[in-house]
Amino acid sequence: MKLNKQGPGKIDYCDFTYNPISGRCQHNCPYCYMQGFWKRYPAMAELQIKEKHLQSNFPKKPAVIFTGSSTDMFGDWVPDEWIQRVLDKVRENPRHTFLFLTKNPERYADFSLMGLNNCWFGTTVDGTERTADNRHKLVWATSAYCGINRFLSFEPLLGPVESDLFGIKWIIIGANSNRGAKKTPMEWAYTLFKTAKNKGAKVWVKDNYGYPERIKEFPK
Ligand code: SF4
Repeated sequence: MKLNKQGPGKIDYCDFTYNPISGRCQHNCPYCYMQGFWKRYPAMAELQIKEKHLQSNFPKKPAVIFTGSSTDMFGDWVPDEWIQRVLDKVRENPRHTFLFLTKNPERYADFSLMGLNNCWFGTTVDGTERTADNRHKLVWATSAYCGINRFLSFEPLLGPVESDLFGIKWIIIGANSNRGAKKTPMEWAYTLFKTAKNKGAKVWVKDNYGYPERIKEFPK
């Protein structure tokens, strides 16, 4: 089982990342740190499902596992069967909490998410036009499941976002940490934080934002 340990200085809102599906992501986000990696190592850019990862066991102690952190495993180019196998795997491991994050939230509608109470289904809203409708698409795609866990990742936050956070239980706010990236105004995070508080959603602000207050909430 290839789990990568996370924590302070890395992806601090999860204990591990887990990538049974890997390969070049076709969203081509300009801020993607993986694009350089795929260029340097073309063999790693090949889309694949790793059988070894799927067949081994998770740790005994309950953990938060960000599944699909290195590519968008819900991209339209990923075969249904592969995604289904990963969902089956997480279903067999209810003691762990699994986070999924995609820029293609409509794809959640292609799978049965019934009973996946140990999972969090998220989408990125980065403040650009491209992701402006993602909250709506996420809620639409998962609307058949009462009480489903949904979250939004505002990372990297590239512009101000006005969102009512309808249907959202948790938000993550982070900055673009690429070298030379513009500093993100504190007001953008504050606006989201205020809305989340009004709506009862939990908030996790990543250290890379430089927010003056430490906010690291994870919903129960
Ligand atoms: S969706 Fe994620 S993995 Fe895909 S290009 Fe964008 S940042 Fe990279």
